[in-house]
Amino acid sequence: MSAAGVRSVQAAADDLFWQDTYEPVIESDEELLRIVEGADLPALLAALAAATGDTTILTPDLRPPLVPVDTVNHPHGGMTPDQQERGRRTALSALRRLRDEEITSVGILSADDTNTILEFLCNGHSEWTGMLQHELDLAPNKGGAPQWRFEDIADGRDFSVLIVGSGVAGIAAAHRFSQAGVPLTIIEAGDRLGGTWQKNRYPGVRLDTPTFGYSYSFAQRADWPHQFAQGCEIREYLETVARRAGLDESIEFGSRLVRAEWIESARVWRVTTRSGDGGEKTREFNAVISACGQLDIPNIPDFPGQDAFTGIAMHSQDWDESVDWRGKRVAVIGTGASAYQIVPAVCDDVDSLVVFQRSAPWMLPAPNYHDGMSETFSWLARKVPHYAQWFRLWVLILGIPGRFHTVRAESGWEGAPLSVSRKNQEVREELTRILTEQFAGHPELLKHAIPVYPPGAKRMLRDNGVWAKALTSAHTTLATSPIREFTPNGIVTEDGTEHAVDIIVYATGFRPSEYLEGMEILGRGGHEIHDVWEGDARAYNGVTVPGFPNFFMVYGPNVGGVVAGSLHFMLERAGEYALKAVRELLERRASALDVKQAALERFTAWVDSENRQMAWGQPYVRTWYQNSAGRVSQIWPFTNIEYWDATESIDPEDYEFLA
Ligand code: NAP
Repeated sequence: MSAAGVRSVQAAADDLFWQDTYEPVIESDEELLRIVEGADLPALLAALAAATGDTTILTPDLRPPLVPVDTVNHPHGGMTPDQQERGRRTALSALRRLRDEEITSVGILSADDTNTILEFLCNGHSEWTGMLQHELDLAPNKGGAPQWRFEDIADGRDFSVLIVGSGVAGIAAAHRFSQAGVPLTIIEAGDRLGGTWQKNRYPGVRLDTPTFGYSYSFAQRADWPHQFAQGCEIREYLETVARRAGLDESIEFGSRLVRAEWIESARVWRVTTRSGDGGEKTREFNAVISACGQLDIPNIPDFPGQDAFTGIAMHSQDWDESVDWRGKRVAVIGTGASAYQIVPAVCDDVDSLVVFQRSAPWMLPAPNYHDGMSETFSWLARKVPHYAQWFRLWVLILGIPGRFHTVRAESGWEGAPLSVSRKNQEVREELTRILTEQFAGHPELLKHAIPVYPPGAKRMLRDNGVWAKALTSAHTTLATSPIREFTPNGIVTEDGTEHAVDIIVYATGFRPSEYLEGMEILGRGGHEIHDVWEGDARAYNGVTVPGFPNFFMVYGPNVGGVVAGSLHFMLERAGEYALKAVRELLERRASALDVKQAALERFTAWVDSENRQMAWGQPYVRTWYQNSAGRVSQIWPFTNIEYWDATESIDPEDYEFLA
């Protein structure tokens, strides 16, 4: 194919990592059989059907049943041994075809083939296929990239958009807006792009969800080294995406949004940014997109005597890489996702470690947590056209139903407050069994390691045994008595014990419900957004707020997924929804749109009623998913499919359009 031809496929595919040709398959039948035995069958069958153009190999009897996942994934989506055997035979003969017919590429699929393959992978759930096309780079119409250009509909209008933040959400929104050619400014408070992955550099930082479920639909990297990517790998990915999207050069670094005021008469946002040296700059934009992240502002609890401590104290997100913690006495406060990664990473090299636990974490088994991708995977990704992208899609499919069935509360269930349903109780028992094995010989620790709240009420971690290993290590102490005060030498707990330490790490999480903290956002009538919210942030589809025209939040309230779904999907869709809103107002020659209060109330009632059915919505549970008013303001209680639906178009009934 000519270079121009390659570019056109790439553009149609909407994938910055698009690969046109693959290495030829030259292996013997015996070697191919070994490959097939190590592959994820549904993904392989889909990839081979697409590459050979023969979708008849996807017979209904081979469909993966998608057995719901309680604690550990079922191999091949729960295909029976007999199905697997037949599936492998089918895959082997298709792989031979790839070799014998020297097939080394695959083009965009027809709509029919796309549907056939998707229906196969999702076992007939045709209501999933719209959302899945958004994620399939071989689909003829993914629906994510704008099919319009600003200059074609804006009619010479002076219109500009500000994107605040260059983390995962900001890059997604910026890419879509720049694809449409909307005049754009991107500001970033830090000095490098990457958001949370730029800031969090503590020892052990890595993903705690599978890597292949954690990338953009428009940037489907195939050669990820690890099953759960390390922080530096995600940083590098985000930098590559921004470079390939042509965004990296245009980000204004060291520029923090401190104030935005809606000027009703001019229909613009007057925005003040502050640079590192304190200098302020004021300018105007027609629309503002806030992509400032949800887990961004560290939570540092107040403890008496905190300032008296003479050692080093740092929050996990503000880890000082110049601090040498080796051979030191280290305290870690907290046992959430960050502590789970820090504690095992430093444990062997410190002099002593004390972990302050307020509540124990639930951990889902992930034996492959520190593993690289397998050699078989790497072979398939190099030789079977788009295998890695099909595998990514397969991971997303498994994530659609996710683990909702394990956290939904059963009315009248008597196991509360330790569990919320029969299934939830089963999960509790299974995870407790694993903990009991891990803490064998340490009954005192085991007693404290079993959480006293239902599985799923807080974010569940992924574990391959390193947490128990670190806590049972001879020089580790698990302190469960509450912290009473800090002293110059360390921390004293309520039971009177003084833990002398050199370094204190606050792994105490963030302030996720304080959306837009540190910014003053003044909407219509001069109302400040935090005064409007009164501690209970709400936004329609997590994006728009009544009284704040042309202000869009990407990854705002109530769109975070915790037991199901893809984060990237949610925030890509939020950005795309904002872009659809901008298109709508440009086409109507309106200057702004403002969501109606009734639409927000309807949306909030819908998510609230579902969140109340979940483990995290129970009145006896305390979790960062809830805000100070007790409402679950962080979490999206549905699947990705409902969000795909909700954000598919701008319903003019939901909005007031300003002339
Ligand atoms: P977190 O999950 O909120 O955990 C904070 C910990 O600090 C909890 O154990 C909490 O105890 C404890 N704590 C808070 N205030 C305390 C106080 N005053 N005294 C004693 N203990 C206190 O925070 P995180 O670990 O930083 O994780 C936050 C979120 O970031 C995660 O849920 C996840 O979404 C994300 N994250 C993701 C990754 C990743 O892999 N990708 C890694 C790290 C973080 P209680 O439980 O009793 O409140």
